Amino acid sequence: MSESKEKQPLLKIDDLHVSFLTYAGKVQAVRGVSLSMQEGEILAIVGESGCGKSVTAQTILQLNPSPPSVVEGGSIELEGRNLLQLDDAKMRAIRGHEISMIFQDPMTSLNPTMRIGKQIMEAILKHQKVTKKEAYDRAVEMLRLVGLSNPEQRMKQYPFEFSGGMRQRAMIAMALVCRPKILIADEPTTALDVTIQSQIVDLMLDLRQKLKTAILIITHDMGVVADIADRVAVMYAGVIVEKGDVKEIFFHPKHPYTWGLLDSIPRPDTHGERLIPIEGAPPDLIAPPKGCPFAARCDYAMKICHEQMPEITAEGDHEVRCWLCHEFAPKVVNRYTEGKEG
Ligand code: SF4
Repeated sequence: MSESKEKQPLLKIDDLHVSFLTYAGKVQAVRGVSLSMQEGEILAIVGESGCGKSVTAQTILQLNPSPPSVVEGGSIELEGRNLLQLDDAKMRAIRGHEISMIFQDPMTSLNPTMRIGKQIMEAILKHQKVTKKEAYDRAVEMLRLVGLSNPEQRMKQYPFEFSGGMRQRAMIAMALVCRPKILIADEPTTALDVTIQSQIVDLMLDLRQKLKTAILIITHDMGVVADIADRVAVMYAGVIVEKGDVKEIFFHPKHPYTWGLLDSIPRPDTHGERLIPIEGAPPDLIAPPKGCPFAARCDYAMKICHEQMPEITAEGDHEVRCWLCHEFAPKVVNRYTEGKEG
């Protein structure tokens, strides 16, 4: 989707194509993704597993193993520098320093055999010319900032001595200690119970406020999206099918897949009605359909949907890839198109 109206974004992904070479064939995981982020903004990429959202995020930091992954086209610019053209040494300097990433499982980032304090200090000493004393002080300050009580004591502990929520906070501290411009958070709350999940969301909002860090959050949970995001990109079968301001996506969604995602989350006004799952399965990305990737599951599919990929329709920043948005398409009546969803 075109990003031409946005000026000087912090991060700009343009027409990104990423595939995986497998014995069964070439899996076209990301097919022409375009996105941008401004300083301090929280952008959520939402979709089912396998839709390409994590592959997109990991490609920003070149974390997908190559082979089997191959970037087949497009660009990823951080303040004008195309990250896809940087060598390993330059990318290492960017990881953790300008762009950090946290994962669903903190143990993928935390070393279980090393004290928390030493791990955070190492992250600082790797990227910044500071003394050990300064690194220690910054690590303590960061642990305090992420809400861990008695941070001097926490510095001496090992990850196994922390609860799940505390580990997540420690991982966020480690990711943010070098004050990166962008934090990529891949399903950061999925493994946590609801109370801790809400605390981590509040923490990320607080840190964005204090540190002005832009956050790219990858999630399948529309509830988390509603709580945290400024803007949303809905991804399906490697393609962004709808994106826009979070209020637009929740109150005026236009794509049938977005309607399905919203119908599948609990709402206060459904009065115990059953949630509606999206029937069917995503297409095989070794041989993706030539038309709309959602056509096989869409209640509104027309002949053209099976024949031709929908064009992008834009109203301001709200962009949709669906033939229903074409001016000659039949009008659909449901609770989203009638404006009763708010
Ligand atoms: Fe449904 Fe057609 Fe829109 Fe695809 S393009 S979401 S099949 S109506």
